[in-house]
Amino acid sequence: MTAETTAPLAGSGAGFLALNAGSSSLKFALFPAEGDVALATGQVDRIGPDGAMKIKDAAGEPIAPAEGGFTDHAAALATVIATVKRAFPALNFAAIGHRVVHGGIFYSAPVVVDEAVLETLATLSPFAPLHQPHNIAGIRAATEAFPGVPQVACFDTAFHRGQPFVNDTFALPHRYYEIGVRRYGFHGLSYDYVTGELGRIAPHLMSGRVVVAHLGNGASMCAIHRGRSVASSMGYSALDGLPMGTRCGQLNPGVMLYMLDQEGLNTAQIRQILYNESGLLGLSNGLSNDMRTLEAADNAEAHRAIDYFVFRVQRELGAMAAVMGGIDALVFCGGIGENSRVVRRRVCERLGWMGIEIDHGRNAESATVISSEFSRTTVMIVPTREDLVIARAARAAAGLSETAAT
Ligand code: ADP
Repeated sequence: MTAETTAPLAGSGAGFLALNAGSSSLKFALFPAEGDVALATGQVDRIGPDGAMKIKDAAGEPIAPAEGGFTDHAAALATVIATVKRAFPALNFAAIGHRVVHGGIFYSAPVVVDEAVLETLATLSPFAPLHQPHNIAGIRAATEAFPGVPQVACFDTAFHRGQPFVNDTFALPHRYYEIGVRRYGFHGLSYDYVTGELGRIAPHLMSGRVVVAHLGNGASMCAIHRGRSVASSMGYSALDGLPMGTRCGQLNPGVMLYMLDQEGLNTAQIRQILYNESGLLGLSNGLSNDMRTLEAADNAEAHRAIDYFVFRVQRELGAMAAVMGGIDALVFCGGIGENSRVVRRRVCERLGWMGIEIDHGRNAESATVISSEFSRTTVMIVPTREDLVIARAARAAAGLSETAAT
């Protein structure tokens, strides 16, 4: 075990914080003016009286947290800032980037936040009540902590703006569409990163038809045609599409009516079931929401959960290929997509008709390209970096790089 360091670490010049404020956690990464390697990454868990923080430097060595509390987002952020300022005293914070779940129909790119933007973001809270208020709290706390420093909001929905109407809507009375009940799509920062990487390492694929499967604790898939999102599995809320760690994924609304009318559950109880007790956890009868645990368990409950997960990914893949008139590449990312050779192998089984054939050796090694040389469709793993997308937008806001932040 390595001793925690409290000594100042290397790093001077402009620094950029990428923040992701959730309901009870605050994830952060500190970046220098250039490059993809974070100087420090960490998170505060259980914001409140029992909060605790972990932070490590670029080499993975733990950094000792500064004195401070974690009672709310502002206190947690103050402790994070005190810690990174002590560890990197020569850094000058030039811009702070924030992950914001919802940009509604208003934002298709990162935006520098002012009071008017905050007001607009607040109007979207009813569409993402479990996330948006916390994202806004994070921005407000950072604005107080860094007066005059640009705060940049980076949206999970932005990548999907401009999707065709048919993917953006539900077949409800049109007034719901007008008031913003739409299939916005999420995980956009991840898709943005993967698209950029694909453009760099395989530009011929990027100009074609790509399905990206972001398979993590939260999971979704996106059909990307010539670099643009044309369909996504996550719709109006982060409940839609694939099953997730504890979220149900696609659900017939009749099931909710059953819970309301027949079981007499209220909305808080239903929300608890759909967000926290379903998905892999529910399918495995409470065994685990974690794919590693399920793979290791090798029993009927675990098989049931993995079978359903794989089935839904395959089904979505077929639908997305159909929407694009074919497929040139399938890309896996997210904790499961990047690490689970079992899920990748099983998803790709029996997909020869789609031109998909994986090389089992490459899959076992988690190589960048895991399809065989005979595969008509390229299958790849691109580790995603949502924190880097946020840092790049923050750099752009400080006038240091190419990404637009207006
Ligand atoms: P989040 O959506 O919270 O960012 P991650 O992208 O970190 O989640 O993904 C977490 C998921 O990845 C968990 O289900 C975890 O079990 C799974 N995972 C991580 N490593 C492995 C592995 N080696 N094999 C199988 N699953 C893995």
